Amino acid sequence: MDRRLLLLSWCLLGASAPVTPNHLGRIPVLEYHVIGGDKNELYTRTAASFRADLETAYRLGYRPITIAQMLDKDFRDVPAGMSPVVFVFDDASDSQFRYVERNGKLEIDPTSGMGIWLDFAKTHPGWNNRAVFCMLNGAAAGHNFFGDNPKFHGQKKEWRFLKVKWLADQGFELCDHTLWHMKLNEYPDAAVQEQIARNAMGIDSAAPGYKIRTIALPYGLWPKHRSLAWDGAWTDPKTKQTHAYRFDAVLEVAGGASRSPYDPQFDSKSIPRIQAIGDDIAKQLQTLASSNARFVK
Ligand SMILES: [Zn+2]
Repeated sequence: MDRRLLLLSWCLLGASAPVTPNHLGRIPVLEYHVIGGDKNELYTRTAASFRADLETAYRLGYRPITIAQMLDKDFRDVPAGMSPVVFVFDDASDSQFRYVERNGKLEIDPTSGMGIWLDFAKTHPGWNNRAVFCMLNGAAAGHNFFGDNPKFHGQKKEWRFLKVKWLADQGFELCDHTLWHMKLNEYPDAAVQEQIARNAMGIDSAAPGYKIRTIALPYGLWPKHRSLAWDGAWTDPKTKQTHAYRFDAVLEVAGGASRSPYDPQFDSKSIPRIQAIGDDIAKQLQTLASSNARFVK
């Protein structure tokens, strides 16, 4: 083959999505914490790096879905020949979702993770509002439904429920990440269930009736009785009311790309993730694509 032709076909191959369906292929579930800052650190991804991750995913033919969609094998947001990817945002800091007040109106801060996501979607057709927010609602340092105090970039307590409800209305998935990021392995069963149930109650207060499907384990640590991560109950000593929870999926903190829900070995109660550290995300998205190991619709 003529060298130029060879080069051209290579470029075309590199730029376009594979077309052979592969429903047993892997699905990358990406894990973010703070979006912003001056440099990338273990729990911080700069705005520029986050934006670059979105570009890389898009260019390689990935389109976003939620964990709930993955469980339901609902790939309607992924065009044929393309691949699903799940973006997960942990810890509910204002860096992920911030409001600014302009002329008495609330706008999403374009420098926050959500602002970057929405701006990216404007110029990238098919980039839908599908991502997962694993939230805390009683943690320190503003990790409380995206900032509960003006000292966290001007965020107001009364904006917290608005943000959570808006996410649900948009089609983003709400996920439990415990009340204040408890190390679940260090506490008795009752405390574990209280942490998880009370966070679920907070989500229900913001988005009444919302069915939570997913929990992310803080630090990836399991409770002594593993099933309490997804199935348990807590009785409020004041009201004597019992609040039960039952989730379908448990997210780990690491472990690489997830198996497909069509794979008999897929375990929804232990879904691995890829942390946003250094170039790991770009590398893994690229490797999955070039080795034909990824899920293709
Ligand atoms: Zn966390």
